[in-house]
Amino acid sequence: MKSLALTQYRAPLECLETTTPAPEGNEILLRVRACGVCHTDLHIWEGGYDLGGGKMMKMSDRGQKLPHTMGHEVVGEVVAVGEDAKRLIETGRTYLVYPWFGCGECHVCKNSDEHLCPTPQYLGVLRPGGYADHVLIPHPRYLIDTPAIPPEQAAPYACSGLTAYSALKKLDPGRLKKPILIVGAGGLGLMCLSLLKAMGRSGAIIADIDPNKREAALAAGAIAALDPTKDDFSKRLTESSEGGIHAIIDFVGSPASWDLSMATLAKGGNYVIVGLFGGERTLSLATMPLRSITISGSFVGSRRDLIELMSLVRTGVDKMPIVTRPLESAYETLSDLKEGRVVGRAVLVPDRPS
Ligand SMILES: [Zn+2]
Ligand SMILES: [Zn+2]
Repeated sequence: MKSLALTQYRAPLECLETTTPAPEGNEILLRVRACGVCHTDLHIWEGGYDLGGGKMMKMSDRGQKLPHTMGHEVVGEVVAVGEDAKRLIETGRTYLVYPWFGCGECHVCKNSDEHLCPTPQYLGVLRPGGYADHVLIPHPRYLIDTPAIPPEQAAPYACSGLTAYSALKKLDPGRLKKPILIVGAGGLGLMCLSLLKAMGRSGAIIADIDPNKREAALAAGAIAALDPTKDDFSKRLTESSEGGIHAIIDFVGSPASWDLSMATLAKGGNYVIVGLFGGERTLSLATMPLRSITISGSFVGSRRDLIELMSLVRTGVDKMPIVTRPLESAYETLSDLKEGRVVGRAVLVPDRPS
């Protein structure tokens, strides 16, 4: 099998030919039909996350070994099934993979929150992922039925879609009756807009510094798309928000997006941080009770959330802008993502066998 592998952090990916694994026990071998390129892959490529104050969470300390194959937004066709999974899974079917594997044994995993397992085995993060023509999946429970949409449309739901959906679920439903503020109109912000619409909720106002992304957000149905660096930002936000912002989803997660959100959130509001840009900020403790705000973090989502999300997609969610690229251009695609040259989601599509 062929994979585009990270052999050294911050270096171009290398094309490796290795033996295609034969599934054993509950394992399933998929031929990759589509694999999304996510911002998380950039953090992996850089070797870790900026925790602020000069500290870094290194991928190597989390157990990642090089060479490593990234890619956690995978749609694949079943080509071989381990003995124990044969009664559940047939070859030839195409599935979306739930990539946030846990140990499967602990209290958290048993509660269907594998994404929060203390000993995760995430696909494409700690196990070989979908920047490849084949990928091995450890158990049938990770294969999710998808509606009849093209693989490149379905793949981003495993991370981008799930992350946006799970963040929306963390907002008090009462707060969704009025426009919310979405900070950052990258792939996640646009996905969040389309999910809000599919859920029949009031829309969102977008804050983004990039005019192209603001334009994409307006095309995706944002009520307004504002530049937070402009002097009239607060005034225009108040005008668009029908009396204040009571819920914010921050897909950036930087000191600047924190400052913007904390300055904007109304009393009693919810602020959900999703983005992993990194950095640090101090928090005035008295503001928590005085403003009665809730600040929470949200990381991807549960398998149950992904199944729910695919039901929502079946009812009709606006198509995300998708750019497909050949598998071989994985590194160029990462570079484009790093430089902000991708509007919507980039998805790698390996050649189909002739
Ligand atoms: Zn676990
Ligand atoms: Zn991702």
